[in-house]
Amino acid sequence: MLRRNLVELTVRPGPPARPCCIAAEIDGTEYGVGAPWTFISGEIKPGEQLMTGPASAKVGAMAERDGDGWIRCDQGHRHWGRFGAAGLLAYVPAEDGPADDGEAAVLLQRRGWWVHHPGTWGPPGGAMDSHESAVAAALREAAEECGLPPDEVSVGGVLRDDHGGWAYQTVIAAAGSRLPVRSDSAETSDVGWFSAAEIGRLALHPGFAGQWPLLRTALVPLTVIVDVANVMGSRADGWWRDRAGAAVRLHGELAALAERGVPALPASVPAPALERWFPAFVLVLEGAARAALGDLPAQPAASAGLPLAGMQPAGPPETGPPGPGRIRAVAAAGSGDDLIADLAARLPGSRLVVTADRELRDRCMAAGASVAGPSWLLGLL
Ligand SMILES: [Zn+2]
Repeated sequence: MLRRNLVELTVRPGPPARPCCIAAEIDGTEYGVGAPWTFISGEIKPGEQLMTGPASAKVGAMAERDGDGWIRCDQGHRHWGRFGAAGLLAYVPAEDGPADDGEAAVLLQRRGWWVHHPGTWGPPGGAMDSHESAVAAALREAAEECGLPPDEVSVGGVLRDDHGGWAYQTVIAAAGSRLPVRSDSAETSDVGWFSAAEIGRLALHPGFAGQWPLLRTALVPLTVIVDVANVMGSRADGWWRDRAGAAVRLHGELAALAERGVPALPASVPAPALERWFPAFVLVLEGAARAALGDLPAQPAASAGLPLAGMQPAGPPETGPPGPGRIRAVAAAGSGDDLIADLAARLPGSRLVVTADRELRDRCMAAGASVAGPSWLLGLL
């Protein structure tokens, strides 16, 4: 669904007189290229009637589309999006190992021939509105342009390409499978899922081409596994008087962190620097802290796929978009260390275990996980 308040229309059959990024609603019908255009150039106010052409044109310019428009960045380029732009790089993770083995697949769209950089491939995306986050804008654009359901991907991170005065933010999000997609807008001429190897043969949008070598190394879901007893024990906040209460407090702080994202990962994690990562968090409770389970909020469905042997999940799964803010607490039926080591070995994607326990660190690293000390995590709260 496109509603632009900058219009260029022409009654002449054939291509528009010059490149544009437009669509208009005429008598309730949305027109893209190929429609009987009336040439008008300029800004149309919401609800304004245009009496030219085959029908009166009512351009449904919406207040929430206040980001539409051209802007020149500090580097002298001309960009679409007065408040910057965002795109969604949806991917299906590789079955095993890192994405650069060529098995991950990403969703790309081919831009229509009349838009900026016509015919090139890149992630679906567009102008951000003044009130909109990059994540919200990217999910909206992918739904509008490719029919991608926002609640079927998990946002994992944001890469910011800052030109000074204008930035493009790529929102990286994992999908469980190659979801059915279609080119749903006049700006999109084709859409599909491509393996990393296939992407090398496509004509890419120059902005995306510049970012792709880094982006392709970020196509791995990340889970942070928290040794709650060890992290609680490393700060003197009275946790020993009420272990369950301290666990609930830590859960609340980590839920807020999961929501706002992590600005930098420890050097031990083999992942590129993004502006922000949105890992999933799994909190492992043991001993007296297990009593915290009854006091925690419902769990996001996104982490419902955890292996359940040897642990008790807290609360019923919560439905809703598995975007930023994925956090889940589990209680170890037996040894907390055994459960943490098991999760470190079995969870898909990249795993980061937060503990200072030397023996547990060794077990987790042997299982292929990265480790970080509690100070890294506490420093983010
Ligand atoms: Zn620029």
